[in-house]
Amino acid sequence: MPMQRRELLNACGGLSVAVLAGVQVAEAAESRFCSPEDPLQALMEGNRRFSRAWRDAAANPSTDLSVLLHGNRCFNPPGDLIDGQQPWATVLTCADSRVSPSWIFDTTPGELFVIRNAGNTAFTEAIASVEYSVSVLNTPLVMVMGHSGCGAVTSAMGGDDLSPSLERLLNPIREQISDSTTLDEAIRRNARGTAAKLLKQSDLLSQAEADGRMRLVVSCFDLTSGAVILI
Ligand SMILES: [Zn+2]
Repeated sequence: MPMQRRELLNACGGLSVAVLAGVQVAEAAESRFCSPEDPLQALMEGNRRFSRAWRDAAANPSTDLSVLLHGNRCFNPPGDLIDGQQPWATVLTCADSRVSPSWIFDTTPGELFVIRNAGNTAFTEAIASVEYSVSVLNTPLVMVMGHSGCGAVTSAMGGDDLSPSLERLLNPIREQISDSTTLDEAIRRNARGTAAKLLKQSDLLSQAEADGRMRLVVSCFDLTSGAVILI
């Protein structure tokens, strides 16, 4: 089997090495990894499975959520993940313990490239991580996901005295939500602002989106229903 482009890039240590070397490698005809035809549709279908299980488990507390999931869908062989990965979507979301993308989208190891911080902000490290996923791992979809009841956005709307580090965490959120009148509105503005910042501060990402190599979407996860809604 010919070495896939992603594997070559990984092996060479990144995109810049391959570009500098002028390497042209044909895409392998068939991937050994899970690779849905429509990544956004796959995310939303996975979330429908999760949302259904989430609501069932909420209505019947004795139900084990895990037995309601992990049904008939792709599962990367662990042995293949030892020396490679081919995630098909990147998710930038909050560090909140209730907002676990792998569960929310009913995915398995090797499918999602996840970046998290409290408030799902596009800090430099987050932008760089998305750049890595798009340029080296070639993930075709990037989702910025806020969520209901976000503590970081709630704190950003409040006036409590905070530590210097927490102030630095919340300042970018405050810049996005200054005109918001409700928490829900602020959460949505914050997520949209993060997506806009990814494109504004990264030529690599804005070019990838313009070229059609990457699609950027914004969503909100609702803790009550377990559903992810595109916004
Ligand atoms: Zn949050």
